[in-house]
Amino acid sequence: MVRVRFAPSPTGFLHIGGARTALFNWMYAKAQGGVFVLRIEDTDKVRSKQEYFDEILDSMKWLGLTWDEFYKQSDRFDLYRQYAHKLLSEGKAYKDGEAVVLHVIQKPIKIYDLIRGEIVVDTKEIKDQVLMKSDGSPTYSFACVIDDALMEISCVIRGEDHISNTPKQILMYEAMGFKVPKFAHLPLIMDPEGGRMSKRAGATAVTEYRTQGYLPIAIVNYLMLLGWSPGNNQEKVSMAQALKNFSIKKINKAGAAFSLEKLQWLNSQYIKEMPSDELARLLKPMVAEKYPQSNMEEQDFEHVVHLYKGRMNTLLDFLEWTSFLFEQNVRFDEGVKEKHLSQNMKTEFNLLADKLAEAREFTVKSTEEVFRATVAELKVDTGTLVHPVRVALTGKAVGPGLFDTMAVLGQKRTVSRLREAFIDNYND
Ligand code: GLU
Repeated sequence: MVRVRFAPSPTGFLHIGGARTALFNWMYAKAQGGVFVLRIEDTDKVRSKQEYFDEILDSMKWLGLTWDEFYKQSDRFDLYRQYAHKLLSEGKAYKDGEAVVLHVIQKPIKIYDLIRGEIVVDTKEIKDQVLMKSDGSPTYSFACVIDDALMEISCVIRGEDHISNTPKQILMYEAMGFKVPKFAHLPLIMDPEGGRMSKRAGATAVTEYRTQGYLPIAIVNYLMLLGWSPGNNQEKVSMAQALKNFSIKKINKAGAAFSLEKLQWLNSQYIKEMPSDELARLLKPMVAEKYPQSNMEEQDFEHVVHLYKGRMNTLLDFLEWTSFLFEQNVRFDEGVKEKHLSQNMKTEFNLLADKLAEAREFTVKSTEEVFRATVAELKVDTGTLVHPVRVALTGKAVGPGLFDTMAVLGQKRTVSRLREAFIDNYND
């Protein structure tokens, strides 16, 4: 029976590296029909915080990494005490003041690591190990070993930063007569410069990605590629597909470089393929928060979402793209005014505005007809007018079709923005 666990300490937010460890454990359990245990290692009373505890559970749920069993170590102190007494009474541990310390027996130790193969460590390097601290709390390794053994964890999958703990923990398993599990130490996530993943490469807390508008499905897809690959250079991988060929043994030994661009690309792909109504439900609260006064009809909003969903790397990008719909004044992107509105086209704009003001309906089709008629009357190229008009209406040089844009902006605002575009130049 495959039983694995993710064992975060609630001393900080769920780190992106922790999320990957959780994901690989979860995927291994799902792929093998096993059990995924979430165990909160809150033995450090000073550094553990309820806020982090809540956030870790929340982020796990948000990522879809649901657990089959849940434990928290602060509920299990009696158990750790019992094992400490047992080791003391068997002479395998001794007291040092109030602390309980394990006698380390000198002998080579073998670690069976599914990713790195067999690792032999000489215990000469290892000092006697503290099991219970003088304040009556267990050390991380002691509690971890007791729990992994009693929870019948078959394979301990965790970050490579724990590799130096493993031989010490094997000594504890042996001292207590527990079966030693298999291990898999995951390569660390590195920043693009080859250092350990830090804030410079991208946010480190899962919540930050959430507030920045990443979809959980994109994060999960991205994290599974950090150290593992489904083959064929495939990057967009569904979970069902991943579970079919996921194996711990295929995880790379080398560190995995974090690439924010790749994560953004995956996120854009998942946003693009999301049904517009579903995406609208995610975006609505963000718009409502930024523009409490906005009262766009649901159907219109969904239509706007549909127009922009192919242009977003993150959900937040939507706010940027559509500010012209929710703000009174157009905010111009850097340089676009100079590039597209420096030539005075007041006459052309006013003619277009007059004709649009007369339109009986204001649809993609009708605005296009008016536009074409205006261009014909002015005897200018379509292009001469398209770009300046888009900039005047949206503040941006790019975007969805101009007539789609006019239709969502509506007749009144389209007409007035065209009339006001060159107002600064009136007295020229
Ligand atoms: N609580 C430890 C940590 O957060 C768990 C390490 C382990 O998986 O054994 O790093």
